[in-house]
Amino acid sequence: MASPVRLVVLGRQGAGKGTQCARLAQHYGALHISTGDMLRAAVAEGTEFGRKANEYMSAGDLVPDDVMLGVVTDRLAKPDAVEHGFLLDGYPRNVSQAEALDGMVGADGIDRVIDIDVPLEVVLERIKGRARSDDNEEAVRRRLELYETQTRPLTAFYEARGKMATVDGVGSEDEVFERLRKVIDEGSQRS
Ligand code: AMP
Repeated sequence: MASPVRLVVLGRQGAGKGTQCARLAQHYGALHISTGDMLRAAVAEGTEFGRKANEYMSAGDLVPDDVMLGVVTDRLAKPDAVEHGFLLDGYPRNVSQAEALDGMVGADGIDRVIDIDVPLEVVLERIKGRARSDDNEEAVRRRLELYETQTRPLTAFYEARGKMATVDGVGSEDEVFERLRKVIDEGSQRS
């Protein structure tokens, strides 16, 4: 059997990351690890941790790095993630988290980092058409702003390691899926 994939997927809110990661996870037999989904599950459970996380989430702010470090370290250390590989959706969100991820999986522990690229005006149109509980207009604006200032620098971080790939995220769900699959399969042939 092919070795498990270990991928990071980047993209603005509304770029289709969640949908594509779920499909890719199915296709590659890997886990879809979404930090946003994990946090939303904690919020829904009403735990103290969830309540605290929700204060940041509903404002569109980032949950503190040390909190995320614990959440992601535990998840990636589980045997299923080690055995099946993973698509990491929503983490890392800044350079400090990317460095923390190195500490968890090793500097060469991620095969590829893929940015699903969708222009700002397109994501804004898409976001208008859906309503998630943490999707108030101000929070969306804040999230998109933080993406540019905090998450965008990851492109240079991973480019310097030859891990970075950008995929055009405008098109049908199937078209974007095929583009992603091509990039991932080409990457695994090279290594
Ligand atoms: P997402 O579904 O990935 O857009 O995440 C929803 C919200 O969860 C974000 O707006 C943040 O408040 C929080 N969140 C998710 N992942 C992270 C992360 N890696 N670091 C900090 N906050 C996060």
